[in-house]
Amino acid sequence: MMIVMQEGASEEQIARVIEQIERAGAKAHPSRGEFVTVIGAIGDDRELVASLTLEGLPGVEKVLPILKPFKLVSREFRRDDAVVEVGGRRIGGGSFGLIAGPCTVETRAQTLASARACKEAGATHLRGGAFKPRTSPYAFQGLEDEGLKLLDEARRETGLPIVTEVMEPDKVDLVAEHADILQIGARNVQNFSLLKRVGDAGKPVLLKRGMATTIQEWLLSAEYVLARGNPNVILCERGIRTFEASTRYTLDLNAVPVVKKLSHLPVVVDPSHGTGHWELVESMAMAAVAAGADGLIIEVHPRPEEALSDGPQSLKPERFAALMERVRRIARAMDRDL
Ligand code: PEP
Ligand code: MN
Repeated sequence: MMIVMQEGASEEQIARVIEQIERAGAKAHPSRGEFVTVIGAIGDDRELVASLTLEGLPGVEKVLPILKPFKLVSREFRRDDAVVEVGGRRIGGGSFGLIAGPCTVETRAQTLASARACKEAGATHLRGGAFKPRTSPYAFQGLEDEGLKLLDEARRETGLPIVTEVMEPDKVDLVAEHADILQIGARNVQNFSLLKRVGDAGKPVLLKRGMATTIQEWLLSAEYVLARGNPNVILCERGIRTFEASTRYTLDLNAVPVVKKLSHLPVVVDPSHGTGHWELVESMAMAAVAAGADGLIIEVHPRPEEALSDGPQSLKPERFAALMERVRRIARAMDRDL
């Protein structure tokens, strides 16, 4: 249920509504728009929440049900686009984010070379995994704590905010000390205890779609994070599994306009994992921008042929710089700031 306050409702009136919601054992989620505040009332006991008589309270314009199964992430709850801002970099609401960097933090030299190249080409955020979800237990699993320190160094040098993955609930506090944005990987999209922990951590979250999750399931996963009081979620389409075997996954660009209709959250696209081949990354990056994405996440490696993970889909710095130029032109045509 959502309570739409009147334009100019006072803080006192808002506080009174929140108090009533909480007294009924539900959680109140205020969302302050430019003109009006909307308060989501979410509780386990739906009938109890519905029975609250908030309509007559001073400052309340109207009380409406949220019909979709996902509530706080829905466009019904919030009409304007959410913006996720870290370190002065915004994603969403007309601001385009270009997150780039290696799949994995491998060495100090490789991390800093990638970071410098991405910054120079105009990336807005740096990516790189210190904890890696690998299909094989024998594959390189990441530098872990050491990798997080290298990411700190890369941020100090470039000023770019860091996006890095966290795989386990017990590691959330550690990774959150180093990351600006916590990445939840495709394989963990329905790891509900992890989603609750990142919801509590207070850092923005980049939530990848699972390779076999429907858009509704993905939005419900995002709802877990918002339900813990963390509104800063960026959704990331990274390809789904289909019968097609000529690409690593099938990049579902339908998801961009579908999600933008259903949700106010920013949506970014990952054409690196979505295609699995560096030659396809630029085309699909441009297509994603044209489809209305709020950003891209792209793998860049100084020497892809030597990469410990995802080399075949990683761009060399000069190719990434060329992609940036073309993406910039399309972003401009789509009224996105980059
Ligand atoms: C990654 O970003 O390197 C990664 C492992 O992505 P995904 O979770 O989408 O496979
Ligand atoms: Mn990767």
